[in-house]
Amino acid sequence: MASQTGSIVQQSLQALMGDAAFLPNLQDQAREQAFLSLAAILSTPNKVHKAFLRITLDSGNVVRIPAYRIQHNDTLGPYKGGIRFHESVNEEEVTNLAALMTLKNALHEVPFGGGKGGVVINPRTYSAKELYLICKKYVQYFSDVLGPDKDIPAPDMGTGEREMDWMMSEYKSIHPGHPYLGSFTGKSILNGGSLGRREATGKGVYFTFRHMLHDFLKGQSGWLSGSTNPFVRTALAHADRPLSVAVQGFGNVGSVAALEAYKCTYLHNKVVAVSDRSVTLYNPDGLPVPALADYAARHQGDLPATEAALAELDPKAQLLGREDVLYLDVDVLILAALEEQVRKDNVGRVKARIIVEGANAPVTGEADAALAERGTIVIPDILANAGGVIVSYFEWLQGRETQFFTEEHIYSMLYDKMQKTLNAILPAFFGDPRPLRQHCYIHAVMKLSAALYRQGKLY
Ligand code: NAD
Repeated sequence: MASQTGSIVQQSLQALMGDAAFLPNLQDQAREQAFLSLAAILSTPNKVHKAFLRITLDSGNVVRIPAYRIQHNDTLGPYKGGIRFHESVNEEEVTNLAALMTLKNALHEVPFGGGKGGVVINPRTYSAKELYLICKKYVQYFSDVLGPDKDIPAPDMGTGEREMDWMMSEYKSIHPGHPYLGSFTGKSILNGGSLGRREATGKGVYFTFRHMLHDFLKGQSGWLSGSTNPFVRTALAHADRPLSVAVQGFGNVGSVAALEAYKCTYLHNKVVAVSDRSVTLYNPDGLPVPALADYAARHQGDLPATEAALAELDPKAQLLGREDVLYLDVDVLILAALEEQVRKDNVGRVKARIIVEGANAPVTGEADAALAERGTIVIPDILANAGGVIVSYFEWLQGRETQFFTEEHIYSMLYDKMQKTLNAILPAFFGDPRPLRQHCYIHAVMKLSAALYRQGKLY
C-alpha cells in the first residue's frame, strides 16, 4: 500500500507499539515481531482478482475491458466495498481504496472487512445495453469470490442502483436457490435496497461536521478554553456562530450535504457556493440549494452552467470556474467530488479553516500536512463519509431478514452509529495535537490489531 493511507497506518502502528496499555501481554521481542506482522498484513491486500471482460459492443466489435476486485482484509467480516466505473481505474488505486474500506469499517464497528472493485471504462461513452453486459460479465468473471458472506460490492463512482440491480440479478442466476438479497448493496428499493441509502453518505458528512462543531463542543468549552492546541483554537473560533459553507461536487454526496447544511436552520449555516464538473455557483448571501437540486435532478445531475440556464432558474449567483470553489473566502469547505483536489501546488490558496472530506482522499498527504501546520481542521473521509457503508450494512441486514425499516429508523440508526464513533474519537483529538485523521487511523488500526492478535494471526 503506497499512498497516504500506507504511511498513516505505519505511523499508527508506531504510536500503538509505544502505548504500553495496548496488548500489554506482548513485550520486548515478541512485541516487535507482532508489530512487524501487523505492518505486513495491513499493508497488503489478501487477494487481487483481475479479469479482462469480453464484451460485444453495439457495433458488433468485441472488446476486452480490464476489471478488478481487490479483497484487502476480512478480519472483521466479509469484504465490502464499491465498484467504480472510471477510465482512470488501476490496480494501485483500487488497492488503496480497498484498504481504506478495511479501516473505515473497523473505525465505525461495521462488521465487514475491506474490498473494492473497478472497471476501466468511461461509462458515459457506453450504451445502457453495453453497461448491462459489462455488469453481467463482471459478476460472471468474479462469481466465485463474491457473495453475501464472502464479498459484498456496492456502487461507487460511475455506478448506482441500476448497476447493482443488474449485478444482483446475475448473481441470482448463477447461484439458484441461494440467498441473494445480501450479495450487493445500494440496490433500488424495488429490488431490496434500503430507504435512505442514496442520501446516507451526504447526511453522514454533514452530521459529522455538525456533531463535532456544535453538539460535541457544547459543554466542553470549560476544559478546552485554556487549550493552546491549534485545532482546539480553530474549533472554538467556529463554534456557535453562523458559518459560510462551500461544497465541491453536487452528486449523491455533495447535493445531499449541501441540502442538509441549507436546512439546518438552527445553526444558521449558509451555503454560499456549490460546484460540479463544469461550474462553481457563488452568492455570499446564500444559494437556493433545493431549487438547484431540483434543477440538477432534471438535467442529468448538472448545475446550471450558463447565464441563460441561471436566468431560467433565477437564483442570484455568480458563475465561476469549477476550481474556484476551492479558493473562496468561506469557513467550511466540503469536498465531495474527486480525489486529490487539494494538493501541494494549490493548498496555499485554500482559505477555509474547516475542510470536510465527503469524497475519498480529496486532500493529498502533502496538503494535509500543510493544513495541519496552519491549524486547519480536516475531518477525514474515513470518519465523515462512512454513512454509505453503514446504511449498506443495514441494507444487508434487512436483506437477510427480509424485514425492511422505515427511513426515519435508518437515519436514527445511522446517526447513533456515527455519534458513537465521534464520541470515541473526539476527546482524544481535542486533548492531543495530532490531526484528526491520525486519531481515526490509530483507533481503526487498534481494533484490527487486537482482533488479529486474538485470532492468532500475528505468529
Ligand atoms: P456522483 O457521481 O454522484 O457526483 C460527483 C460530482 O462531482 C458531480 O456533481 C460531478 O459533476 C462532480 N465532478 C466531477 N468531476 C469534477 C471535477 N473535476 N471538479 C469538480 N467537480 C467534479 O458521485 P458521488 O456518489 O456523489 O461521490 C462523490 C465522491 O464521494 C466520490 O469520490 C466517491 O468515491 C465518494 N464517496 C461516495 C459515497 C456514496 O455513497 N455515494 C460513499 C463514500 C465516498
